[in-house]
Amino acid sequence: MKVFDEIESEVQSYARAFPRIFNRAQGEYLYDEEGNQYLDFLAGAGTLNYGHNNPVFKKALLEYIERDGITHGLDLHTAAKRDFLETFYEKILQPRGLSYVMQFTGPTGTNAVEAAMKIARKYKGRENIISFTNGFHGVTAGSLAATGNSHHRGAAGVSMAGVTRMPYDGYLGEDIDTTAYLDKVLSDSSSGVDHPAAVIVETVQGEGGINAATTTWLRNLSEVCKKHDVLLIIDDIQAGCGRTGSYFSFEESGVVPDIVTLSKSLSGYGLPFAVVLMRPELDQWKPGEHNGTFRGNNLAFVTATAAIDHYWSDDKFAAEVLRKGDYIEKRLEKIVDNYGDGNLTTRGRGMFRGLNCVNGDLAGQITREAFRHGLVIETSGADDHVVKTLCPLTISDDNLKKALDIVEAAVAKVLKGQDVPEEHDFFAEDGGENSEKKDELAGAA
Ligand code: PLP
Repeated sequence: MKVFDEIESEVQSYARAFPRIFNRAQGEYLYDEEGNQYLDFLAGAGTLNYGHNNPVFKKALLEYIERDGITHGLDLHTAAKRDFLETFYEKILQPRGLSYVMQFTGPTGTNAVEAAMKIARKYKGRENIISFTNGFHGVTAGSLAATGNSHHRGAAGVSMAGVTRMPYDGYLGEDIDTTAYLDKVLSDSSSGVDHPAAVIVETVQGEGGINAATTTWLRNLSEVCKKHDVLLIIDDIQAGCGRTGSYFSFEESGVVPDIVTLSKSLSGYGLPFAVVLMRPELDQWKPGEHNGTFRGNNLAFVTATAAIDHYWSDDKFAAEVLRKGDYIEKRLEKIVDNYGDGNLTTRGRGMFRGLNCVNGDLAGQITREAFRHGLVIETSGADDHVVKTLCPLTISDDNLKKALDIVEAAVAKVLKGQDVPEEHDFFAEDGGENSEKKDELAGAA
């Protein structure tokens, strides 16, 4: 793929794992230029919870564009923004008893994290922020300081101050409540940990390897924060928007964060969009103090409004996510039982799940094998050792089964040398014309 090799930067990552030219997508399907069809279990790294080109949002978007609705609006008041704010308030915040104000930041997740950390520091007048082992919050300087991964941190080129790392739930073993350690260091003026403005945490660590915190741990964390007058920021950029079976991933725990960051699936359509939700009294910004040219992606407001209207007006969608999540859990557990030999475990919550292969090489072989059979699926974790099942939440039962059949067959092949049954072959929508290409890909992998 000459032009990508010669013109595009070496920084490419997902493109290396899936070396095809994709040109069409619908629902849980991706298609390449050769006409091959794939099931998408990468789903924009958590951005396509409602699938590719969701027809409901597409209709709303096309109508809006057709009538010359505002596309770019800085932070001007627009009808599209008003509709989004009203819908988000009526269907998401009010029914959950949450009273947040909403800050529109630049449109990527890391923009929202930067703003959240900045307002926490400004409000409390303290610099330090607590983040957790294996946490991922983005790659701009402030967010990167809170990110654990050494590969990403190594590229910073500057020192990353202002953050103290604490062990996440389970980091020191299942029976150790790491919030007790946090409580201890915050109670001890000689612990060497400066009194923080905030704690930033993911309820399920996506990039860090699908580590799901227990509800008890989250509640304890919230109590420690209150005890020490520290703000709790929940980074719901990947776990939010329904992925765990409720709109916000912290709902099950009953914890109410002071600040929440959202992005990824917020627009529903893959359009860039990020927000910070905060308790009203924290909103100490002066006009324009934290700005950005792309805070007003009105196309994203339109699709986000359609997404909330369509999927979050009642509890049906959340129930479906939990039902499918249970199915994924059972299938992954069966894989562990059948092929594990003690070296595989399952992880996660709702439809945010993964298969921990302990070894990154093994996980990579499994995802490559799955890709050869038409499943786009990635790994995460410090050593890329967790196979991440991050499909659209709207996936059909049939395709969910097919995709997990492919994962199972790939595990059987990699761990036991068993062959993948032909019926799980998603290539050759055109009746096999591309089998040559498939072989080429198999050779390359
Ligand atoms: N926070 C979390 C929890 C994430 O998973 C990510 C991205 O994966 C980010 C922040 C950063 O988002 P973005 O890549 O849009 O900057």
